Parts: sequence; C-alpha cells; structure tokens
Amino acid sequence: CGIVGYVGSRPALDIVVDGLRKLEYRGYDSAGVAVVAESADVDLIVAKRAGKLANLDRALAEEAIEGIEAGLTGIGHTRWATHGGPTDRNAHPHVSADGRVAVIHNGIIENFARLRAELEAAGVEFASDTDTECVAHLLAAEVAAMPVASPANLAEAMRRVVARLEGAFTLLVVDRLVPGAVVGARRNSPLVAGRGVGENFLASDVSAFIEHTREAVELGQDQVVLITADAIEITDFDGKPVEGRDYHVDWDA
Ligand code: GLU
Repeated sequence: CGIVGYVGSRPALDIVVDGLRKLEYRGYDSAGVAVVAESADVDLIVAKRAGKLANLDRALAEEAIEGIEAGLTGIGHTRWATHGGPTDRNAHPHVSADGRVAVIHNGIIENFARLRAELEAAGVEFASDTDTECVAHLLAAEVAAMPVASPANLAEAMRRVVARLEGAFTLLVVDRLVPGAVVGARRNSPLVAGRGVGENFLASDVSAFIEHTREAVELGQDQVVLITADAIEITDFDGKPVEGRDYHVDWDA
C-alpha cells in the first residue's frame, strides 16, 4: 500500500516512519520497517506490527532495538493485505531465510504459488502466508550467487528476479551487506524517486518525502532503480540505462 525508502547521512528510521505517516490516508492494516546497520556484523533490523502505525511506534519504543537509530539506510511499508491475513508475521518487510535481504511490496505476485512450491522443494522455510515472501528468498539466492556484495549487484539481482514475476508490483529491497543502497522495481504500480542533497528517497507517492525534497524523478513502468546517498540510477528490466524525468513538486501535501 504505502512504500518509503531512504539512503543518506541521517538516521533512516524516523524519516521512513514519518514518510509512512504521510501515506496513512490510503488505509492499511499493518506497518513495518527494515534498517541496514552501518556495520556488516550487525543483522538487519526489522520491526513490524499488525494494526496502525501507533502499534509499530509502540513496538519500536518498547523494544529499543539495538542500533536501529544509527542505520542510514531503510525501507518502510504499510500493508493492505491481499494474500495472508493482517497479522504481525504477514506484515512487511519480509526477510530472506538467511537474514540477508528484506523486501517490501505493493501489489500482487500472481505466480507466487508456483514460486513458493519451487523454493519449498529446494528446502526454503517460509515464515508468512504472503505472495511477497517468495521475492525475498529469490533475491537472497541471486545476491548470494554474485561475486561481491555491491549496490550494482543488488540492482542486477532485482532485475533477475523481476524477470520471473507475474502481476503488478512495486518492490524495494535492502541487503544487509550493502549499507547505503536501496533498490526498487515497478510494474503497473506506483514508485517515484526523490533527489536530496547527500540523500535520496523512493516512495509510492511524493507526499512521503516532500518535507525533505521537492525534486522528484519520475520512473516508468518496468524499470529498476538504485538509490545511494549520491545517485539515482535507473534501468529497464534488461539493464539498459534509462533517463528518469526530473520534475519539481510545487504543490503542498
Ligand atoms: N500482496 C501483498 C500482501 O498481501 C502486498 C499488499 C499491499 O499492496 O500492501 O502482503
């Protein structure tokens, strides 16, 4: 339903949660965030809860998860359940079984049952009832097969996975071993980038980031986008570079 991603020099958690609050008007049944710590020794930091953002806020306050305030890379999601009930475990982000990648998703993966069966046959254990979770496991397999963990290889992993997906989706992924990068993909579902100074944003709607920047970059359908603190790089699903259209948001949300 609502999607936010951030990479920059400020702690990502508050920016992502505030961005989700801006998207609240759309309605949702669960909310969650994943933050990448700056050190590769630290696990992905994930918090998610069924219900309103207040439940997530409370969980974050109560759990005081070590390191969550320090990460400079994060993604957040508000969910409108289509596959799997509105529970904590079905809330996004979904984390791969190896703990390396976290994924958020708007839309529906139409061929998820076949992908899930294939992954389960290969021994992957699922932790939710969503159509989304198979994407986390597929991405984990792709990044594990790359020679090095890097922003470019995370984007390449996303291109390899979207080639296998049917349906409509906006996806964002973070990789525990690649702090400083968020990769997104879109097909028949909204995603826009925001260009800051030393920081960049991705969101399902500009209202999630216009408090921070009004310089937006329009993405087309069937595109993959990589944001780092300094760059927004867009390609089509085949990896051919694409020029995004920059525009200024001059209305007030
Ligand atoms: N189909 C996904 C789910 O049910 C995403 C729903 C959404 O767009 O929020 O988890």
